[in-house]
Amino acid sequence: MSMPNFSYVRIRSLKEATEHLSSDGARVHAGGTDLLGCLRDNVFWAKKVVSISGLKNLRGIQETKEGGLRIGALTTITEITDSKSVRDRYPALAKAASEVASPQLRNQGTIGGNLCQKPRCWYYRGEFYCLRKGGPTCYAYQGENQFHCIFGSGGICYITHPSDTAPALAAYEATLRIAGPRGTKLLPIDKFYILPSQDVRKETVLKPNEILTEILLPPQAKGLRSSYRKVRARQSWDFALAGVALALKFKEDRVEKARVVLSGAAPIPWRSREAEQTLTGNPLNTDTITRAVNAALKNAEPLNKNSYKIPLFRGILEEELRAIAKS
Ligand SMILES: Cc1cc2nc3c(=O)[nH]c(=O)nc-3n(C[C@H](O)[C@H](O)[C@H](O)COP(=O)(O)OP(=O)(O)OC[C@H]3O[C@@H](n4cnc5c(N)ncnc54)[C@H](O)[C@@H]3O)c2cc1C
Ligand code: SF4
Repeated sequence: MSMPNFSYVRIRSLKEATEHLSSDGARVHAGGTDLLGCLRDNVFWAKKVVSISGLKNLRGIQETKEGGLRIGALTTITEITDSKSVRDRYPALAKAASEVASPQLRNQGTIGGNLCQKPRCWYYRGEFYCLRKGGPTCYAYQGENQFHCIFGSGGICYITHPSDTAPALAAYEATLRIAGPRGTKLLPIDKFYILPSQDVRKETVLKPNEILTEILLPPQAKGLRSSYRKVRARQSWDFALAGVALALKFKEDRVEKARVVLSGAAPIPWRSREAEQTLTGNPLNTDTITRAVNAALKNAEPLNKNSYKIPLFRGILEEELRAIAKS
């Protein structure tokens, strides 16, 4: 397919960016690794592509005065994997970033783009005019749904959220800063992604004229142990078939607070509140781990070709919880 025509602007300020993005059919361009493929394949169209790559203050990783980290949205995935601060203090994020795509894509792709990338359902990415594109039906439901979700579809759309870094950031309770025409606002990452039941045409709450500008990580709590694990079909590069981001805060030998976020499971990074509740207040022993794994998968709703995901999630969740218990 050939690339359709659009105008291209490189802006120099956030104000200029939001002004351009307020016109109909304008799209943000960061590293372009996902956007340009979507335009070329007619997944969606653009009249105007607004490059934000010149906004230098959206690059880089800095300490916050509270003792956490601020990651600018234009920071590349490689910069995140290479950051000593991220590796030492937020190991699940460093691991998740290192599992994204290939080295070339990690060099070019930004964390903002990684969080805002479009889903990978092959009908959506192909020539099918499905519900998510404004069409009449979901082709995955009765079709080739082996890579689709087991939670959160609402019986509407069965995508899995594609980003590896989002579940890790959700486990760390990151906050996102969003800039729009009326200034900026902060939003917990839990409130950023939306389910098909809220709006099947959108993946996030972002309006067309809003930009994700930075990610704020809270200070590392004392006693926090965290990890990210991803299973994929190909070892070279691939999206998660199943993944889990964990952040468990211990007080003495008990789990005081738990975040269990599944990837490759749902249209959004999927917090398993059932597993979190089972873990909270208990020692991380075999009994608790078994109960947490059972709780996490209890309400799964597999399709006709993806029920293999249930034992896969059970296995990785159990292994990761055991590893945390031993660490
Ligand atoms: C072959 C391949 C394999 C991949 N494998 C993985 C994988 O295993 N795991 C994984 O997590 N990802 C994977 N990806 C996705 C890749 O990580 C993303 O393409 C990349 O991170 C996007 O960053 P970008 O800067 O290039 O975004 P762009 O392509 O520029 O933008 C992506 C989308 O986000 C929007 N956007 C970008 N930045 C902002 C912003 N700051 N504010 C608001 N909207 C914004 C754009 O409008 C566009 O819709 C893969 C991609 C490819 C092509
Ligand atoms: S799962 Fe969603 S994106 Fe895929 S075909 Fe169905 S409606 Fe479209």
